[in-house]
Amino acid sequence: MKVSHLPVDPGPAAWNCLLPQAAEAQVLEGAQTADWLVIGGGFAGLAALRRLSQLHPHDKIILLEAKRIAEGPAGRNSGFMIDLPHDLASEDYSGGLAADLRQIRDNRAAIAFAKDMADEFDLPREAFNLCGKFNAAATAKGHKHNQDYAAHLSKMDEPWEIYNPAQMAELTGSHYYQSGLFTPGAVMLQPAMYIRGIAGALASKYREIHENSPVIDLDHNDDWTAQTPSGQVTAPRVILAVNGHVNSFGFFKRQLMHVFTYASMTRALTSEEVKALGGQANWAATPADPLGTTVRRVSETGGDRIIIRNRASFDPSMEVSQARMRSVARTHDASFTARFPMLKAVAMQYRWGGRLCLSRNTVSAFGEVAPGLFSACCQNGLGTAKGTLHGMLAANLASGHRSDILTDVLTQDAPSKLPPEPFAWLGANALMKWGEWTAGAEL
Ligand SMILES: Cc1cc2nc3c(=O)[nH]c(=O)nc-3n(C[C@H](O)[C@H](O)[C@H](O)COP(=O)(O)OP(=O)(O)OC[C@H]3O[C@@H](n4cnc5c(N)ncnc54)[C@H](O)[C@@H]3O)c2cc1C
Repeated sequence: MKVSHLPVDPGPAAWNCLLPQAAEAQVLEGAQTADWLVIGGGFAGLAALRRLSQLHPHDKIILLEAKRIAEGPAGRNSGFMIDLPHDLASEDYSGGLAADLRQIRDNRAAIAFAKDMADEFDLPREAFNLCGKFNAAATAKGHKHNQDYAAHLSKMDEPWEIYNPAQMAELTGSHYYQSGLFTPGAVMLQPAMYIRGIAGALASKYREIHENSPVIDLDHNDDWTAQTPSGQVTAPRVILAVNGHVNSFGFFKRQLMHVFTYASMTRALTSEEVKALGGQANWAATPADPLGTTVRRVSETGGDRIIIRNRASFDPSMEVSQARMRSVARTHDASFTARFPMLKAVAMQYRWGGRLCLSRNTVSAFGEVAPGLFSACCQNGLGTAKGTLHGMLAANLASGHRSDILTDVLTQDAPSKLPPEPFAWLGANALMKWGEWTAGAEL
């Protein structure tokens, strides 16, 4: 099976650029055999590696990553590891009471698994911080959404607090927001620091991780053999943790939507700019409308910075053009200036985009897709938590280790079929454009 596409990640992985340069990559050279092979070094791949090494401490496990660790989506996201329902395809992030209670159970299992690694590997608090997050509303409609979501949380016995405009201004330095719904269970990641931290610890403590080693061919005889440009690994069991690129391996064809979203990060603010901005040094806000703007302020490695994320586009080719990046940059600048007029002189230092993988019915692409080949893909936009969960569950499934969560994931529907092209492309992009337009000042 020839792998049809390798990942292309537009723009710099900004979070990774703030960190010291990584040691030279260990590229796979020559032929190797292993008990297990994991393909992909994001949230799912590293969780699978961790879980396999717990279940089979004496087995040889190899992980192959196409790029450098943290250069892909795992190191270029906004870092919200959210415990509560966060269904991006819905109008209000929720999916009904029973489904939401299941989601909370699943997301918290993933967060506990990630926290265990963060604790054991002694990651700094900046990398993994269980500090909660805000859902910020810039409009009356957004505020109403926050109130409705809070009522929904109360029905599930979940704690929350609503901040008024003055409290939001005190938090953010910006007078843009009408309310903020604080929920305490989200973890904020410095995503590249977290991903590099756990990959480094897993590699040095237990297993081999080969970077810049894309799988270009995967064949099955008695065992699976993965070919890279300069080596190959043969193993009886393989976990595919490549998110949307599972399509490039020939699985779940026309069942997955490849969506890009985009972010910009300012240069480090000067001390005068920090004073003019006011507010607290670290905070994180998702938008009250799923197609609005996510904003973070950070103040540790790399100095005081603001990060903006918005816009989404459906790109079945899994690549985006420079023209798209320029158009997104204009939206980012407008969203930044509207919120922080006191920082008019502050330019963006980094701009980037990255892949999400969604299914129409918001299910994962999970399970044994061929004998000994397990998929832990399609995280529906919340890959920090769902990727961790699916990686861990794929390792359990492949090892015959059952649980209620695994049974639920195995009995979910398959990702539903997409309409034929060009209707899928036209329909999805029109829907997202419409969503961005109706998001109004939340964008
Ligand atoms: C700008 C942005 C903001 C986001 N914000 C958030 C957020 O705040 N919270 C959240 O939960 N999610 C967020 N996401 C989504 C999140 O990053 C993804 O859902 C998550 O990274 C998916 O995890 P994963 O491990 O399944 O896949 P990935 O992180 O995509 O990892 C898969 C890895 O497989 C590798 N790979 C692919 N093909 C091959 C091959 N042939 N051989 C070897 N390796 C291969 C890739 O290089 C990649 O590193 C955001 C994404 C973007 C782009």
